[in-house]
Amino acid sequence: AAKRSKGSDIRIFNKSLEKEIGSFLVVDNLLFNAVRKELFLFHYQPYFNVKSKELVGFEALVRIRDENGILHYPGEFIDVLEQSNYLNPFREWALKEVSEKIKRWKRPISVNISARTFKNPNFPKQILEYVKELPAPMVLEITERLYMSEVEKSKEIIKELRKCKNLKISIDDFGTGYSSLSYLMDIDADTIKIDISFVRKMVKDERSRIIVKAIVTLAKELNMKTVAEGVETEEQFEIVKSMGIDYVQGFFFSKPLPEEEVGKLLGN
Ligand code: C2E
Ligand code: MG
Ligand code: MG
Ligand code: MG
Repeated sequence: AAKRSKGSDIRIFNKSLEKEIGSFLVVDNLLFNAVRKELFLFHYQPYFNVKSKELVGFEALVRIRDENGILHYPGEFIDVLEQSNYLNPFREWALKEVSEKIKRWKRPISVNISARTFKNPNFPKQILEYVKELPAPMVLEITERLYMSEVEKSKEIIKELRKCKNLKISIDDFGTGYSSLSYLMDIDADTIKIDISFVRKMVKDERSRIIVKAIVTLAKELNMKTVAEGVETEEQFEIVKSMGIDYVQGFFFSKPLPEEEVGKLLGN
């Protein structure tokens, strides 16, 4: 009986491995086509000044429009993309695309940077080429997790990136890592984005409010701006406002928009 169950364990393992390989191949094929046929696009989610409610800038969020017209979201493909050879052509495309939009819209645009891109020794030089003559900043979003995984190295890289005028650094998904206050104090970033999970918890949970309040106070002292991500309701917005958070991003204000709609919104 023991033998038999071992045998079936192996089969189950093979089945799930088979499935994994199968879905990997599907995603790989999606990415292969996206690179070859230029199927990547960005949606741009506006973020707003909490006090004045004025539009400040956008975050570029990648999608793939496949040949059947179906829109694919990063949750489906970003992990595979980040580990694949498609990352280089994707990055070239992404930087070019975002630079063009900054020129056209004359607003800051944030772009999410993967760990592999961030740590690529050529990256600071590459990005300088794109950022040189932009009329508004390009903002690089790196996750708190990435930063914290190698604090000293991250600091070095940011120091290098700081040589680029017009480049800003934003710490994404803040509060989700095992962040240690002593590290947080010397993050050399312009902005920290308070993660959606905090925004959600703040409504009901006093402790979350206290923690966020402390983060905001700390950020102010250190000359960093704060952004609340994923604000979906008026109630959440009111709390965000009472916390003194600078900027707000979320469905309550706007979903990520196709570029045509951004053009209309800005009148160009
Ligand atoms: P992120 O950088 O934290 O981006 C915010 C995500 O939250 C986006 O999902 C956005 O559509 C979603 N969001 C915005 N407002 C709300 C809201 O009010 N409620 C809820 N429930 N969600 C909201 P999206 O576009 O699916 O992107 C998911 C993640 O994929 C991003 O998280 C980012 O980590 C990654 N990603 C997106 N574009 C890129 C890219 O160009 N390069 C890299 N490396 N990663 C990217
Ligand atoms: Mg982001
Ligand atoms: Mg985020
Ligand atoms: Mg997030």
